[in-house]
Amino acid sequence: MSEEKSLNFIEEIIEKDLAEGKHTTITTRFPPEPNGYLHIGHAKSICLNFGLAIKYGGKTNLRFDDTNPVTEETEYVESIKEDIQWLGFNWANELYASDYFEQLYAFAEKLINKGLAYVDDSTSEEIAQQKGSPTVPGIRNKYAERSIAENIQLFTEMRQGKYADGEKVLRAKADMSSPNMHMRDPILYRIKHAHHHRTGDKWCIYPMYDFAHGQSDSIENITHSICTLEFIPHRELYNWLIEQLDIFPSHQYEFARLNMTYTVMSKRKLLQLVNEKHVSGWDDPRMSTISGMRRRGYGAAALRDFCDKIGIAKRENLIDIGLLEFCVREELNKTALRRMVVFAPLKMTITNFDKEVEWVSIEDNPEDPNTTHRQVPFSKEIYIEQDDFMEVPPKKYFRLFPGGKVRLKGAYIIECNEVIKDDEGNIVELKCTYLPESKSGNDTSGIHVKGTLHWVSIAHAIHAEVRLYDRLFHVENVADAEGDFKDHINPNSLEIVEKVYAEPALANNNLAERYQFLRKGYFCLDKDSTDNKLIFNRTVTLKDTWAKEVKKKN
Ligand code: ATP
Ligand code: MG
Repeated sequence: MSEEKSLNFIEEIIEKDLAEGKHTTITTRFPPEPNGYLHIGHAKSICLNFGLAIKYGGKTNLRFDDTNPVTEETEYVESIKEDIQWLGFNWANELYASDYFEQLYAFAEKLINKGLAYVDDSTSEEIAQQKGSPTVPGIRNKYAERSIAENIQLFTEMRQGKYADGEKVLRAKADMSSPNMHMRDPILYRIKHAHHHRTGDKWCIYPMYDFAHGQSDSIENITHSICTLEFIPHRELYNWLIEQLDIFPSHQYEFARLNMTYTVMSKRKLLQLVNEKHVSGWDDPRMSTISGMRRRGYGAAALRDFCDKIGIAKRENLIDIGLLEFCVREELNKTALRRMVVFAPLKMTITNFDKEVEWVSIEDNPEDPNTTHRQVPFSKEIYIEQDDFMEVPPKKYFRLFPGGKVRLKGAYIIECNEVIKDDEGNIVELKCTYLPESKSGNDTSGIHVKGTLHWVSIAHAIHAEVRLYDRLFHVENVADAEGDFKDHINPNSLEIVEKVYAEPALANNNLAERYQFLRKGYFCLDKDSTDNKLIFNRTVTLKDTWAKEVKKKN
């Protein structure tokens, strides 16, 4: 039986609207501005908008909010589409606010004809000054007195390119003494002689956000237009314009944006990280972008699960990145193939092992009842991790020490008989013996050992580079931290281990597969890999080592 979840506040609104017959079906939209790659905050919005439509049998449009020609690029449009599909959602229609430019222009003319918009020649400083302050009402200037005919004439000329950038704007004639500053004759259109990624040089006037968003919602019959809290003050204008234009009554609802610890999430800041080369690109595995997380090995199901777990809040909050990592681990634990990889090798010679090789069978995933198995070569000379051996072990040390016994995963119990050192006293080799009757799955030795180590046969090992990622910032609340956000970049967010030793099964790999390197973490192949050089990204550690670090420090 599935757990009954209580409705979030937007679901409550929708159920009421449907029950009262206000709508027979719902339509939502996801409205990215194509000025950067999507981040995990957008994933939250995507899961919400698409999730609601799926739940209530409605549909969701993908609408590019491309009203600002200067910052927008086709590369971003493509990456946004790829990310939404990867997250597992399908839009009903792919739309562009720029496709509505002609319609929006007609809406503007309609307002002018109703005496509700005028062309203003003031400079932006004058406009700002005349607007007053929240406690001081604004004053209208003489341009507000222009006749409808003159306004139509001037607005037409603005479109024709007669004026330079900033020379004129079109403003709504709303309410200069409203306590809501957005209602004080807001700008609807500005002149910008700039090339647009879709409309080219057709237009030199562009609508402002407030004169594009709600109108686009209305054109598409969006029933529930969901945005983040900072748009609350825009809602009055959103409603006013729809009412004056007498178009489909879309409604705006606001929820708290996702903020996450140790992370920045604004596209402007992410762009800085890219441009100033603090990261290798938008899809650097340390980035909070969906493409970065995908490259790092995070699963779409884990991201959806995370968005579901955090719920929909009405107040700003800061979500622990550990929760996201928890969701990632949970999914990978079920899907990742187990492999043995030694990072810092210590040679072990098994003196009584006389065969050239013995292939032992080890399960690919013990969490899967139908797991497949792979054959792993066991031989006289193997590598174990340096830190799995201590000459003088502390109490309760379950790994290897002189005279101690451990199990080699999937193979045999071995005992350490001798430690070989070089001239400087470094341990360079262990001489061990194995117990032939202790083979995994058929152990008749009667001996119990507490430690199990991963290992690789030296002669059969393949080599790879691994990239160990940590959090990109070392302060919890990056947005509120003092100084520039880049002052808080974690200088140790990437550690490269150039050569690790892996069991040969890893030679058979692909970008889609997920791996657990036993006792090391979850890994995936990186796109930088070549036929001659394998590169793996650490997706996430096995346990939350960060939480432990923080506890230690406090
Ligand atoms: P940024 O500040 O990162 O540039 P934005 O809000 O300007 O983000 P848009 O492309 O305009 O980015 O956003 C598309 C949609 O995603 C909007 O509906 C926006 O409210 C939503 N969104 C953006 N960031 C978040 C976030 N952190 N949490 C939830 N929703 C978000
Ligand atoms: Mg924006």
